[in-house]
Amino acid sequence: MKDPIELRREFHRYPESGWTEFRTTVRILEELQALGIPVRWGRQIHDPARMLGLPEPQVLEACWQRAAEETGREDLLAPMRGGFTGCVAEIRGALPGPLTVLRVDIDCCEVAESTTPDHRPVREGFASLHPNCMHACGHDAHTAIGLGTAVRLWERRAELPGTVRLIFQSAEEGLRGAASMTAAGVLEGADRLFGLHVGILPGPVGRVAVSARGFLSSTKLDVVFRGRSAHAGICPQEGRNALAAGAKAALGLLAIPEGFSEVCRVNVGTFRAGTGRNVIPDRAHLSIETRGETARVNAEAEAAAREVCRAAAEEYGCTVEFFPMGGAGGAVCDEALARRAAQTAKETSGVTEVLFEVPFGGGEDVTTMISAVQARGGEATELVLCAGHTVPHHNGAFEIDEAVIPLGVELLTRLAMESR
Ligand SMILES: [Zn+2]
Repeated sequence: MKDPIELRREFHRYPESGWTEFRTTVRILEELQALGIPVRWGRQIHDPARMLGLPEPQVLEACWQRAAEETGREDLLAPMRGGFTGCVAEIRGALPGPLTVLRVDIDCCEVAESTTPDHRPVREGFASLHPNCMHACGHDAHTAIGLGTAVRLWERRAELPGTVRLIFQSAEEGLRGAASMTAAGVLEGADRLFGLHVGILPGPVGRVAVSARGFLSSTKLDVVFRGRSAHAGICPQEGRNALAAGAKAALGLLAIPEGFSEVCRVNVGTFRAGTGRNVIPDRAHLSIETRGETARVNAEAEAAAREVCRAAAEEYGCTVEFFPMGGAGGAVCDEALARRAAQTAKETSGVTEVLFEVPFGGGEDVTTMISAVQARGGEATELVLCAGHTVPHHNGAFEIDEAVIPLGVELLTRLAMESR
């Protein structure tokens, strides 16, 4: 297998956003299959009813075609057509022991990468080749860490207690992929689960946290207002202005957090309306999200958002429809598992500081998997590996210290080899 840092740079060069990780999945499959590691992919690891926020069919198809051109592997790509990306590998150890799940996410952000020469991917020739797509959240490093760990565990399978299942999860951004893969049963039998994220917390490589709290619960919705178009000069009174309803709703939505004493966020990320200058707009489309520090706060914010939209629609004689596009609840990491992981982390070379718990701050759909494993009696936690980042996540100039990759491989390998 290629060196994990080289793999990370390759993934960085060819970033793919949620549900379009076709090339990325092909490369993961190629690396795993070259070693003989059993791996599942395609429809068998997804529940189509839970694949929220899929891109338009023509976008999916264009991305699939691009991956076919880039890889020449239509054999591997065929089962993924339509967005069935990601894969699940399984390594059976020779010794008895638990079923350990290691989960990494593989998608990129819809962000254009910086082109300035002082941005390292530009300087060293691995900047994104895909327009408006960039690994600006470190999932390229997660993918590389997952592959590096797979090789190490495969080499040591004669001394591995239990089984390790590696989930390469698609569509984390927008909180979409975990629900689909969980519903398809990829966590079946899991005794413990480790997720991980690089960055998040400022600090040098070597500082690691063995659990996280404060995942925001979040709901992603598309909102469509429908009115009636009419000539804006001759008979505007016969129209029903969907743009006005959407505008009224947008401002109301942004004011929702003011009513909460807990952490609550509402964002209107996009707003498209209208067809021509002299036409009363008959359609408006908003992509919105709500977040809350607890599931209750998020549920209340979502209810308020729907009410704001309904009221705005009524005021302008329009209808409104909501389309769920993603979401995840919060989760609480298992303390006992985190304590054991802290001990392992302290014994891992390269680890200089072990924090027990850190605030996560954003949403992460690993929470869906954490809760699912716990509901079946297993334990789960999310690791945070500092990566010396100085530019915020989801910014076009985001970059990590790649030393976090071998460190992540070492730590995950040790955690998986522990039967305690
Ligand atoms: Zn992320």
